[in-house]
Amino acid sequence: MAGLYVHIPFCEKKCIYCDFYSIESVHDYDAFLASLTTEIEMRARLLPVGRSFHSIFFGGGTPSLLSPAQLGGILETLHARFRFDPLVEITVECNPGTIDVDKLRGYRAAGVNRLSFGVQSFHADDLEFLSRIHTAEEAETAIRTAHGAGIKNVNLDLMFSLPGQTPERWMANLERARALGTTHLSCYSLTIEQGTPLARMVARGMVGIPPEESDAALFELTMQTLSDWGFRQYEVSNYALPGFESRHNLTYWRHEDYLGFGPSAHSTIHGRRWWNVSSLQTYLERIRGGQLPESGGEFLSADTLRSEHIFLRLRSEGISLPDFTRLYGSDLHADNRDFIDRCIADGMLVIDSERLKLTRKGLLVCDEICAELK
Ligand code: SF4
Repeated sequence: MAGLYVHIPFCEKKCIYCDFYSIESVHDYDAFLASLTTEIEMRARLLPVGRSFHSIFFGGGTPSLLSPAQLGGILETLHARFRFDPLVEITVECNPGTIDVDKLRGYRAAGVNRLSFGVQSFHADDLEFLSRIHTAEEAETAIRTAHGAGIKNVNLDLMFSLPGQTPERWMANLERARALGTTHLSCYSLTIEQGTPLARMVARGMVGIPPEESDAALFELTMQTLSDWGFRQYEVSNYALPGFESRHNLTYWRHEDYLGFGPSAHSTIHGRRWWNVSSLQTYLERIRGGQLPESGGEFLSADTLRSEHIFLRLRSEGISLPDFTRLYGSDLHADNRDFIDRCIADGMLVIDSERLKLTRKGLLVCDEICAELK
């Protein structure tokens, strides 16, 4: 199986913490959409006929700035050029400040069956600090509007470890998300990305970032609370009610192929990874000149595939030890026996039905454990 990603590189306003490629503008969407169509057609000619895709994800940027007609036009082009599973999952990332019921009904009519809202917090002062364009009330309305438009499969992105955030304030966010009937939650801690306004504010001492212990405490609280409410943690930061796991997310974590379109989009097909230019201007010029908008690429070595397998699987559903041996010709447990057995004794790893998995305690130090496995 494989997934498709479409990057829409526009935002009404840049958030202070964001390092995704997007530009603040009321831009000429038509020029971008024409080039996107051309890129999809160029790429389709290069792919083997017969490959089927099981998910389409519109990310960004703010895909919900597009009208239903614009989004539907992209979907028509994709359907004309690629084959899809009959139950294809089609997700649109939405900023709550950019939608209304007519837009969401239009998306649904175009085939969209999953929405992902960048809510981040239900507290007005957090939203102001993060420079989000929406209010807490708009976020609540957006989710109710999604349900009213007939889309029940809804993810909320929420952010913890915000400056001054107490466990009580974080719990209030989780409780509000639950009360709204969300089926999926992505809970990330605030990270300071280099080059962002937030990084400069932290460097100047204008913002204090909570210490690691309080980040870990909020993460543990999240895992325990959402598990008590029936959500399954199927990746470090992602929780779903049964049957609402994102097929598109699973594509990445299972190391399956994905094909991306638009500025800065990444793709991995048949062991080759490439990435598009992170500049709308260059993207448009390349496509108009009849060139693919790639800015770089590489063939993935066996070592890279192996270490990515460890990292991606351990963060999500665990590593099947027999599958690992079949794929890479080495016995992961035997090669790391002392370390793995020590982590098992310390309650950070378990082997369950020949699958090596992180426990909740292990999830707190996931990156460190992945780095040790050879
Ligand atoms: S709306 Fe999303 S993509 Fe746009 S700047 Fe904010 S976080 Fe980044």
